[in-house]
Amino acid sequence: MSSSVHRGIGMTSQRTRERLIQRLREEGIRSQAVLDVVRNTPRHIFVDEALASRAYEDTALPIGQGQTISQPYIVARMTELLLENGAMETVLEIGTGSGYQTAILSRLVRRVYSVERIKLLQQLARGRFQELQLRNIRLHHRDGGMGLPEYAPFDGILVTAAPEGIPRALVDQLKVGGRMILPIGQRSEQVLVRVTRTQGGYDKEILEQVAFVPLLGGTL
Ligand code: SAH
Repeated sequence: MSSSVHRGIGMTSQRTRERLIQRLREEGIRSQAVLDVVRNTPRHIFVDEALASRAYEDTALPIGQGQTISQPYIVARMTELLLENGAMETVLEIGTGSGYQTAILSRLVRRVYSVERIKLLQQLARGRFQELQLRNIRLHHRDGGMGLPEYAPFDGILVTAAPEGIPRALVDQLKVGGRMILPIGQRSEQVLVRVTRTQGGYDKEILEQVAFVPLLGGTL
């Protein structure tokens, strides 16, 4: 293992992580599989060394480029909502960011495709996946608003930046019966939504209030 896995090791003590798991339970996360994967995934390697001491707090943290690593609660909640009805083979994530959500998903499904519009963040995430020896992740640098049609259809799609409405292109890349978890709305008033693809269209459930960075067009 490279040295960065060990950095901030004092903060990664089993007790610190256990406190986070306890908090996620209190906040209503019920999936034991999700809680186990959160417990076993070192979040401190997904943030800058200067923030490693805060990595097991249940809070979003800056990752540069004006972006954030999502709060552990929301990562756990979205993962639980995605997988509630059973296992999935292929999942598309829009917004790789730090790669933390990607890593969590990669331990619960057969293959994760993840799209990021900022090349620098994608490169940092790729290094972390190598360090953790996660080999079932495929990264793409592009504007994810159009999804990844060449690999569709997917069993699930998880979007970690907020569009104003449900992107039709993404719904079209779900298998019938597949689901997409995404935040929608303006910066100050977003809701988490679960979309289930049907034969003729899709069903939509509004779940809870959330705050994500916006889904933006173009690439950097
Ligand atoms: N799951 C990530 C969340 C990062 S924040 C984590 O926990 O670290 C959301 C990410 O979505 C940012 O990295 C941002 O650059 C990216 N993003 C925003 N709009 C995008 C788009 N149209 N296509 C791909 N990625 C996008």
